[in-house]
Amino acid sequence: MIAVEEALRLIDKNVQNTDKIISLPISKAQGCILAKDVMSMIDMPPFRQSAMDGYALGSIEENSFELIGEIQAGDHKNPKLERGVATRIFTGAPVPSTAMAVIMQEKTKVLDGKLVLEEQAKVDSNIRPVGEQVKKGDIALAAKTLLTPAGIGYLASIGVTHIDVFQKPSIALITTGNELVPPGQKLKHGQIYESNSVMLLTALEASGYPDVSCFKVEDDYDLTYDLLQNTIEHYDMVLISGGISVGDYDFVGKALKALDVDEIFYKVKQKPGKPLFFAKKANATIFALPGNPASSLSCFYLYALPTLFKMSGNPEYHLKREVAIADFYYKKKGQRAEFLKAIVKGGKVTLLDGQASSMLRSFALANALIYLSEETIEVQPQDEVQVILLPS
Ligand code: AMP
Ligand code: MG
Repeated sequence: MIAVEEALRLIDKNVQNTDKIISLPISKAQGCILAKDVMSMIDMPPFRQSAMDGYALGSIEENSFELIGEIQAGDHKNPKLERGVATRIFTGAPVPSTAMAVIMQEKTKVLDGKLVLEEQAKVDSNIRPVGEQVKKGDIALAAKTLLTPAGIGYLASIGVTHIDVFQKPSIALITTGNELVPPGQKLKHGQIYESNSVMLLTALEASGYPDVSCFKVEDDYDLTYDLLQNTIEHYDMVLISGGISVGDYDFVGKALKALDVDEIFYKVKQKPGKPLFFAKKANATIFALPGNPASSLSCFYLYALPTLFKMSGNPEYHLKREVAIADFYYKKKGQRAEFLKAIVKGGKVTLLDGQASSMLRSFALANALIYLSEETIEVQPQDEVQVILLPS
């Protein structure tokens, strides 16, 4: 059994960023990491652009202007504006090259067909200069940037359609357990609903991994062996839920041993999630997560998800940690480190009821896990504690 920090260190040591680079349409690149700098092929904005609905002015000293025509967004016009002449203009429209400023319409009046300013215009005010955001040939987004919807919108705004990103790992998710039936069916005595697969699938999807192959296997050694052999051969990441404890019908550990995987660790001094197993074999990275739902999800967030992020080229792969002030008393029950479901708000952290590894209700309400090290004995109100923020 190893310590939490040692488990994290061993994962870090044994997991590398992929070197596989693929070109993707930007619409499919959410959650990917850019493999190369993206250079802008255009100035953005590509022309002097009006930032307001108002008037483009041929000069700025005057207070009253003769009005000629109008320029709408999308127009190609470039009327010559003499001194004392202005044109109506709208947000996003090209500002005439002879305009010295744009004044917003709220600061003007039109009297007897003449434009009258209520305040003096300043040179270039309300005009977005060419290339203000990014210039042609400059780096629009640097390699290693995580692509968010905003980043994808930004790339679209400069005309990019495809980008080179690190290929995300292919993922197999396996659930084990004879007692499990899918929600929607009637439970017989001794059965429970299978919840880990939909929980982990949606957690994966929310973190940028929507394409996961999902498998179910009974508590049977041969079936478990065959499925593990097959998935280890074909996937970069194999996530297994359950069957990794010491019971007579826990076959995952036995099958993995027989498959001769390189075991990196088994069992971590933590609660929940003690029976976590981590191994590698050829291209596959393997996590066997404990079956108890809260253990499974804790181990997923604390170990498996950062591993996926790292494999995908994300330089910031660990969940964010911060310090918060406890508003509760808690006595740790043993020697193991603990991860407790909690709510962090405004620098304060509140402990939730129902911390057992079989319970998901507290997890459903939590936005963070409190991390209590092995050495911690108790937490007093007003103590500083470390919290790990869960992805929303
Ligand atoms: P195991 O790790 O297989 O010994 O399972 C530990 C506990 O978690 C048992 O009570 C199982 O019934 C439960 N469990 C295991 N897998 C799942 C799952 N996929 N969904 C819900 N509960 C599960
Ligand atoms: Mg089981």
